[in-house]
Amino acid sequence: MYQPGKPIEELERELGITGAIKVASNENPLGPSPKALAAIPPALAQLHMYPDAGGFALRRALAAKYEVDLAQVAIGNGSNDLVYQLVLATCEPDDEVLSHRYAFLSYRLAAQVAGRAYVASPTTPDLACDVDALIAAITPRTKLVVLGTPNNPTGSIVSSGGARRVLEALPARALLVIDEAYAEYAAAWPEVDHADGLALLARDPRVIVLRTFSKIYGLAGLRVGFAVSDAGVIDILNRVGRTFHVSSLAQLGAIAALGDDEHVARSARHARAAVEQMQREVTGPGVRVYPSLANFVLIDCGRPSTPIYDQLLRRGVIVRPLAAWGLPSHLRVSVAREADMPRVVAALNEMLNEMLDA
Ligand SMILES: *Cc1c(COP(=O)(O)O)cnc(C)c1O
Repeated sequence: MYQPGKPIEELERELGITGAIKVASNENPLGPSPKALAAIPPALAQLHMYPDAGGFALRRALAAKYEVDLAQVAIGNGSNDLVYQLVLATCEPDDEVLSHRYAFLSYRLAAQVAGRAYVASPTTPDLACDVDALIAAITPRTKLVVLGTPNNPTGSIVSSGGARRVLEALPARALLVIDEAYAEYAAAWPEVDHADGLALLARDPRVIVLRTFSKIYGLAGLRVGFAVSDAGVIDILNRVGRTFHVSSLAQLGAIAALGDDEHVARSARHARAAVEQMQREVTGPGVRVYPSLANFVLIDCGRPSTPIYDQLLRRGVIVRPLAAWGLPSHLRVSVAREADMPRVVAALNEMLNEMLDA
């Protein structure tokens, strides 16, 4: 089962403290898109009505924004849900789902829940996708290759050339899923080359781009994400969708958020500054802060990170320990509000340095 970040209320209840900071789930510390917040209250009086099962208005807004046909867009109850749907819709019993060793855990879980084999290829020493190793792990049974870029929990990216090479090596029957949950954050780093899912899709109909309203739009609690692909792939995907799986408020909030360029731009700028601040200021013996184009950083503590995680909890700072990912000396830390960043950095530095004497 997926272990989510510890809720603030749970920590405050357990320790009898207040003012805890959660930097464990890559949520947007600037809050929800104000346009989404304004759109929702007037719709509350219509809650007795079922949502539009086809999600027409939201899909039309997405199709217009990304310049694709309506039939190329599917919506889901978060993009996580679309990963599960994709495995269900496309994988025969003997088919394999392929990603790399430090990919998002949901890819593995989605394969397991559907009873399909999951294959994880080795990464580079920097824990990034090793495109050659990934290609070497492709078999005639490979059906879905799933790549997060930026990847969660490492923050690493796949280059545009790397993604093209994966496509060239992809068996005709297989599909390439590009999980772009953090794409809008990566756009704040124009000087860094990274794969562009929609550009890849324009070249090859076997590409599926996944995006979400949970991250930069600040709507994780609303549960809405979407897929863009070839119309034929979207049709297959929709066949396993549950009826009314995206609520009316989620559809409305997402449409409003899509037009909130200001919130997106502000959030991306804020995240880049906070990532750079952690890269500059979080230090300690054997400590390494990895590069990241997302709204979080991966930190190698140079020793077991679970005790550090526990000590940070006592200081009211909730981060994510990564032992479940097979990274026992690493933590993932999301960006905090600007006013909270000094406390997050200070707590990390205190733990990463002082505990050596204990
Ligand atoms: C957060 C995240 C998602 C999206 O999750 P939903 O809330 O289900 O939309 C998808 N992939 C990755 C890698 C993520 O980090």
